[in-house]
Amino acid sequence: MIKNSMARHAFSAIAGLLAAGGTVWGAAAICLVRDGAPRAVVVLSAESAAALRPAAELLVKYVQRSTGAELPVVLESAAPPARQPVTIHLGLDAYAKALGLGVEKLDGDGFVIRGVDQRNVVIAGPTPDGTQFGVCEVLERYLDVRWLLPGPDGDDVPPRRSLEIPVGELRQEPALFSRLFSGLVGEAQMTWARRNRMHDRVHFHHNLVNLFPPEKYTRTHPEFFPIRDGKRYLPKNSGVHGWQPCFSAPGIVDEAIKNICQYFHDHPEAASYSLGVNDSSGHCQCAACQARDPGGKNFLGFRDCSDRYFEWCNKVVEGVLKQYPDKVFGCLAYSEVGQAPSRVKIHPRIIPFMTYDRMKWIDAEIRSDGQRMTRRWHEACPLLGWYDYIYGSPYCLPRVWFHEMADYYRFGYANGVRAMYAEAYPNWGEGPKLYVSLKLQWDPRQDVDALLGDWYRRAVGPDAAGDLAAYYAHWEDFWTRRILASPWFSKAGQYLAFYRPAYLADVSEEEIVRSRQLLESVLGKARTAPQKARAKLLLRAFEYYEASAYAYGGQPAPIAKPSGGKPQRAAPGLPATEAEALALLEKGSRCLQMDHKRQRLVQEFAKDPVLVHSLAGSTIPSLTGPDGGAGLFWRALDWAAKSEAVRRELRRLADAQEPLTRLQAKAMLAVIDPAAVPISLNPSFEDLQGHWPTAWLRWIDARTGSLAAVPEAAHDGRIGILCQGIKRGGPFQDFPTGAGRYAATAMIRVPQTAQGNASITLSVTPIDEKGMNMGSLSTTVRATRCDWTRIAVAGSVPKEGEKAERVKKLRLVVILDSFQPGDKVYVDDVALYKIE
Ligand SMILES: [Zn+2]
Repeated sequence: MIKNSMARHAFSAIAGLLAAGGTVWGAAAICLVRDGAPRAVVVLSAESAAALRPAAELLVKYVQRSTGAELPVVLESAAPPARQPVTIHLGLDAYAKALGLGVEKLDGDGFVIRGVDQRNVVIAGPTPDGTQFGVCEVLERYLDVRWLLPGPDGDDVPPRRSLEIPVGELRQEPALFSRLFSGLVGEAQMTWARRNRMHDRVHFHHNLVNLFPPEKYTRTHPEFFPIRDGKRYLPKNSGVHGWQPCFSAPGIVDEAIKNICQYFHDHPEAASYSLGVNDSSGHCQCAACQARDPGGKNFLGFRDCSDRYFEWCNKVVEGVLKQYPDKVFGCLAYSEVGQAPSRVKIHPRIIPFMTYDRMKWIDAEIRSDGQRMTRRWHEACPLLGWYDYIYGSPYCLPRVWFHEMADYYRFGYANGVRAMYAEAYPNWGEGPKLYVSLKLQWDPRQDVDALLGDWYRRAVGPDAAGDLAAYYAHWEDFWTRRILASPWFSKAGQYLAFYRPAYLADVSEEEIVRSRQLLESVLGKARTAPQKARAKLLLRAFEYYEASAYAYGGQPAPIAKPSGGKPQRAAPGLPATEAEALALLEKGSRCLQMDHKRQRLVQEFAKDPVLVHSLAGSTIPSLTGPDGGAGLFWRALDWAAKSEAVRRELRRLADAQEPLTRLQAKAMLAVIDPAAVPISLNPSFEDLQGHWPTAWLRWIDARTGSLAAVPEAAHDGRIGILCQGIKRGGPFQDFPTGAGRYAATAMIRVPQTAQGNASITLSVTPIDEKGMNMGSLSTTVRATRCDWTRIAVAGSVPKEGEKAERVKKLRLVVILDSFQPGDKVYVDDVALYKIE
């Protein structure tokens, strides 16, 4: 019974019946707990008892935590409960049904809270989910409970002596009927999200490969597969994306209807089926399919295939609804189907999800385009989904934009958006970000300042709230105003470059210091133990941001972006004096210490249910590695060769506590040692075999440009390598050697600054037994005009988390990237050293 009702009610919010917060109150109050003693019993009907048990337990648990009173839970059919004056009817028992509350007209997540009289209270939704959200509302509204953060200290449950509910009625349903974050980690985070009414109710991901599995259909119905370059393309198996069905194939509508009906038969609890296109393009090129397209490209630059696709979707959905009239169908507005169809009106049970990082709406032009696209979609279909990228953990600063987020949620709701999905991957150092998001998804009319103010006061107490608000306001200003001027911010692309922390270049030491002061002040002013615990947690999360900002000080200048026309950061110079060289070592070692600290914190946080980074650095190589201060360090190399004072400092640092500094100092000492012998062969390219240096190989992608051993390119000796017009490639050498610590150096000269985004990378790559790259040590510089300059990199291979015994060989390579015909780079003295 329950399953059917869930399916039926999955749809009513999207029919536009929102009545969130409708309230009718009488004067009198019904007392459920008085002076810490229970005055009420919770009653469940026998048929819904199992499904409503979690809601009952939630109510009992928090009433007890707040008031000390334990409310008994009984079945409606059982003997009258132990003489409590008030009955709380949880869900639709016989009493509640007889009241005719119209609960069944609400969205499945909605509920009614009715204080009937001095003896009866009803909390009921049309589904167990709705009833549970009704309990959440009672706890938040009448006991002032808040689920601020996940984990043991995340709840705020003010102690109370009594619990009263007014006579009257409160009726709510969510503005967005489906609300989902991905990237939550563990039970504590999932529980937190559930309390704040996260509920995923529509499927929309890539799915056509599952609707027509190639293992079966390439044999039985090859005509379902696309024509590609004049021939039928038959994917090997369900693991292969990059293709779409031929939507005009005879019988493909009926087969889809049959398969989806079978799915709903096998999964009666499912309210939704995804019609999402497969990943990575590959639409059919047959004449019948192409004839259905309007012709031309969509705003993303792909062939516009929305009409053929949605025409097919409409027919399939009409067929399925004949048997299963309550289901909904999500899909992705993406690539070739990224734009609203021009001819076809989309069936009202289909919900296309528009994918975009809407923090980018801080840019007025992007916002205006995004709003126009949303309106266009809404003209073609009544219900929209929004797919957002609100990432927390890959960012090295708290990324918050509460007010902008509230603005676009309101715009979305006003323009047909009824479902939200976001890749969240939280860092809870972002405080109220996800809390405010879920509150606004339930009701976007809420005042975001009121929500934030409440969260700050509840989290750390009234004395500390102001400082906490100032901390987040600072970073909200950074991410909504200052970031627009950063070279990191890109107008192009669906989402911002979360994997590239170049925005740290726009952060000053002062503001990091100020942020710490604010959070320390918060901790000092917090009163109760839970307030102090939450203040400590936010300060601890901040330590990662702080270490990241300081570690970044040493990174090489960010690589130029291909477009945008913003000024480039000047390439940092080499030290002109011994004193400057010593200063570089000092600054470099501080950055390396901070780099080490941030990596250590990520490991420590991994054991904490709240602080854990769900997208840890190990999954994003550009957020880890030996960069940071190492770049500063190696700029002092030539001084190390000629100054005893610099060498003395290096020897001191080679004994440092902190391992990254120790490694870089040792590596530099090893490289400048006159007795040092590189393990690479023929580093100066002097030995030739014919016209090419022995031991070296040439790599040139797509046969663009050339590599030549010529006297013109010599730094030392007679011969160097002249690289001309290389799009991607360079000289390389492989060594059969194992894991260890290595340093590599190379001399480069760039006679003229290259156009566009050209760069030079010195890289040491460990390679496993299957010939796979296990993650390089590398340093990259922009190809700006320079006389002979040394670039260097040092570190351990393989990286942390990789098995040392898997390393079978190392590849030493100078990679030239994105050079135009005619661009020249000279390379000489490329050497690899093993470090003790
Ligand atoms: Zn076709």
